[in-house]
Amino acid sequence: MRSISVDCCIAGGGPAGVMLGVLLARAGLSVAVLEKHGDFFRDFRGDTIHPSTITLLGELGLRQEFLRQPHDTITTLDAVVNGNRLHPVDFGRLPAPDDFLVLMPQWDFLTFLAAHGRSYPGFNLHMQTEATGLIREGGRVVGVRATEPDGELEVRAPLTVAADGRASALRADTELVVDDLGVPVDVLWFSLPKPKEIPPSTLAYLDETSMVLTIDRGTNYQAGMVIRKGSFDVMKQNGLDGFRRAVAATAPFLAPVLGSITDWQQVKLLTVQIDRLQRWHEPGLLLIGDAAHAMSPAFGVGVNYAIQDAVAAANALVAPLRSGAVDESVLAGIQARRMPPVVRMQKLQKRAHELFAKPGGGAVLPNPAPAPLRWLIAAATPFVQRYAARVIGRGFRPEHLGPALREPQAEWRRSAD
Ligand SMILES: Cc1cc2nc3c(=O)[nH]c(=O)nc-3n(C[C@H](O)[C@H](O)[C@H](O)COP(=O)(O)OP(=O)(O)OC[C@H]3O[C@@H](n4cnc5c(N)ncnc54)[C@H](O)[C@@H]3O)c2cc1C
Repeated sequence: MRSISVDCCIAGGGPAGVMLGVLLARAGLSVAVLEKHGDFFRDFRGDTIHPSTITLLGELGLRQEFLRQPHDTITTLDAVVNGNRLHPVDFGRLPAPDDFLVLMPQWDFLTFLAAHGRSYPGFNLHMQTEATGLIREGGRVVGVRATEPDGELEVRAPLTVAADGRASALRADTELVVDDLGVPVDVLWFSLPKPKEIPPSTLAYLDETSMVLTIDRGTNYQAGMVIRKGSFDVMKQNGLDGFRRAVAATAPFLAPVLGSITDWQQVKLLTVQIDRLQRWHEPGLLLIGDAAHAMSPAFGVGVNYAIQDAVAAANALVAPLRSGAVDESVLAGIQARRMPPVVRMQKLQKRAHELFAKPGGGAVLPNPAPAPLRWLIAAATPFVQRYAARVIGRGFRPEHLGPALREPQAEWRRSAD
C-alpha cells in the first residue's frame, strides 16, 4: 500500500472539496484532494455560480479570468403561475458589480478552480481515487484509506475533511447522527432544444398539476419536472407519451420540442434530499458541503453553500494546520458559524416544497388574476425582488477571505513557467 502524508486530506472533488483545497494550498499548506471519478463531468449538477461566489473569485484575483470562460449570465428569474408572469428575483438589485448570476457547467467551473489550485505546489488532486474509510488511532481520525488506479492508498493528515457529497462514504464510517427533514418530491432533469417560439427567459412554470423548470442554457433548456417522491417508476410504466403530455400541460410552449425525448435514458432522476448532521465533526475529522447538509435544489443554492462552507473552514483552519494540530473546538467553531445559515436556508427550502415546489404543482393564482390581485403583486414585487436577490444571490451569511487567505504565500507561488 502506498502511503502519503499531507497537512489536510480532503475526500471529494466537488465545489466544497476543490475550493477548500485551493484555499489551503494558497495559504502554503499541502493538501490531497481525492476525487473518485476520472473527470469532473456530471450531467445536471448545480451549475449556478452565485453573486457571492463571484465576489469570492474577485477576492482571489480570479474574477476576470473566470468571466472569460464560456458562460451564460442571468439577472432576473421569472415564474409563470397559471399563465400569470411574475418577476420575483432581480439580481440587479444587489450592489454592483456582482449583481448577476452565472450559469456554467459544474465541470468547467471545477476544472477552472483546479487549474488555479495547481499553481500552488501544495495542491495535489488525485483523480480516480476513492476514499473507502477513515483511519483512526488513539480515538481520533488520522487519515483516509482509498483506492487509486494502481492499488491501495493511505493518506495521513492532522485533519481529514469529508466533502464527498450527500452519499458520503466517510460520513457512513462515523456514528454522527443525521436529521432527515423529509422532502415529498423528486426532480426529473432533461435537456430540450429551444422551440421556434420562445417566451422571455423563465425559471419555472406552475399550475395545479405540476412545476416545470426551464433553465436557459443558450442553445437549449435544462428542463426539470417536480414529481411526487418515488413516483418515477410508475411514470415510466405509463410511458413517455404520458410524461411528454404532463410537461406540455404545464409549459405548453415546449410541446413542439418534447418529441426529442425518445428514451427514458434522457431523463435523469434527482432524489431530492434535505438533511443535516447534528454534529459536523469528531477529533481529526470535519464534514462540509452536502456531506454535512444535503440541500434541495430549491433556489439552486447548494453549490454556493458548499463553497461558503469551504471558505469558512479555510479561514478557521489555516493557523491550526500550520501549527500541525487542529483542536476539535476549531471544528466546532466552523459548524457554529455555518449551521445557522444552513438551517435558515433549509427551512426556506422546506417551505418552498410545502407551498409550490410540491407534488401536484402549487397553483396559487386564478387565471386571469383579478385586477386588485395584480396591483397587489405589482406593489409587492420590488420588496420580494430585493429579499430574493439577497437570500438567493448572497445567502444568509456570505463568507469572505480572512487575512490568512488574502495573499498567496509568496514562497509557495510557482513561477509562471
Ligand atoms: C441533479 C442536481 C441538480 C442540482 N442543481 C443545483 C443548482 O442548480 N444549483 C445549485 O447550487 N445546486 C444544485 N444542486 C446541488 C449541488 O450540486 C450540491 O449542493 C453541491 O454540488 C454540493 O457540493 P459538494 O462539494 O458538497 O458535493 P458534491 O458536488 O456532491 O461533490 C462531491 C464530490 O465527491 C466525489 N466523491 C463522492 N464520494 C467519494 C469518495 N468516496 N471518494 C472520493 N470522492 C468522492 C463525487 O464524485 C463528487 O465529485 C444540484 C444537485 C443535483 C444532484
